[in-house]
Amino acid sequence: MAYEKERRIAELAVERACRLTKIVSDSHQTGSVSKSDHSPVTVADFGAQAVIIGALQKIYPTDPVVGEEDSSILRGDRALRERVYSLVQESSKLDCVSDEIGSIESESRMLDLIDWGKFEGGAVSRMWALDPVDGTKGFLRGGQFAVCLALIVDGQVVVGVIGCPNLLVDPKDETSGKGVIFSTIKGEGAYCRPIGSSLSAASRIHMSSLTNTTSASFCESVEAGHSSHGQQARIAELLGISKPSVRMDSQAKYASIARGDGDIYLRLPVSATYEEKIWDHASGDLLVAEAGGIVTDMHGKRLDFTKGRTLKENKGIVAASKAVHAKVLEVVQQVLAEQ
Ligand code: AMP
Ligand code: MG
Repeated sequence: MAYEKERRIAELAVERACRLTKIVSDSHQTGSVSKSDHSPVTVADFGAQAVIIGALQKIYPTDPVVGEEDSSILRGDRALRERVYSLVQESSKLDCVSDEIGSIESESRMLDLIDWGKFEGGAVSRMWALDPVDGTKGFLRGGQFAVCLALIVDGQVVVGVIGCPNLLVDPKDETSGKGVIFSTIKGEGAYCRPIGSSLSAASRIHMSSLTNTTSASFCESVEAGHSSHGQQARIAELLGISKPSVRMDSQAKYASIARGDGDIYLRLPVSATYEEKIWDHASGDLLVAEAGGIVTDMHGKRLDFTKGRTLKENKGIVAASKAVHAKVLEVVQQVLAEQ
């Protein structure tokens, strides 16, 4: 099957990165610092980017990577750099796949691997999009976050993996344990399995079969600065939705609707100038499509991953099952016209 190997490598790498994030959260020492755009970054973000690009570089050394982080903060902070390197080493020792995805032999190699993620993106034959810790704010508050990796070939997402260490294995059972890994290959369906289980344990997932939006539930960002809670509440009202929104950080929203926990994901922009990042959407876009859903921007356009590091040609996100997407989009247009 095409891209089977890429999916396997991506899953092993994302799983190792999830393990690294767990070491950090268990230690209660996130090493959070501020980036130049004032958003937080932690040792987990840097470590996860290093282990994932390390794995990709071992197998696909010429593949470019569009990754969220770079090493500039680490190069100027020895204590932070040493902490990240020790996490990278510890996470690699905890799995038995170093023969397959390697390990990182030095601090300087780790910094170079992180910087391999500086690729500018665009209309290229093959590249990876990586968000090592999507929803860093959720990670810091012990909420949802996701390790996200996607392979984009000629502008099409063909492999998507999302690791959600804090998501319940069974959303209806609080005792089912936390940690789920989602994966998909274009044309081959969407799957999930508990983190730590064998890759072959994955089971197929589907969007909900809901046809009437009045009984729908919708998810949105926790952060009011990332999407317009006001407009989203108005859309929900017009759709006849009475359940309160489910707020969660990161691409765990795409993963949740893909396995039918919720029905709709809305992300209407709060800023006219903000451009969504490709690493915040690539994996989720394919996962939802392969689970039987549709992802478009708020004007109904497919997401265009060929414009660089951002989705310059798109505004907002509307994700829902095939049965209700058109209806949701119609109401989104109505609410946009009201403003
Ligand atoms: P979420 O957890 O869904 O709220 O999304 C987290 C992502 O929001 C982060 O990875 C950021 O890249 C992204 N982000 C940062 N600022 C904004 C903004 N003004 N509008 C939309 N997304 C943003
Ligand atoms: Mg992100």
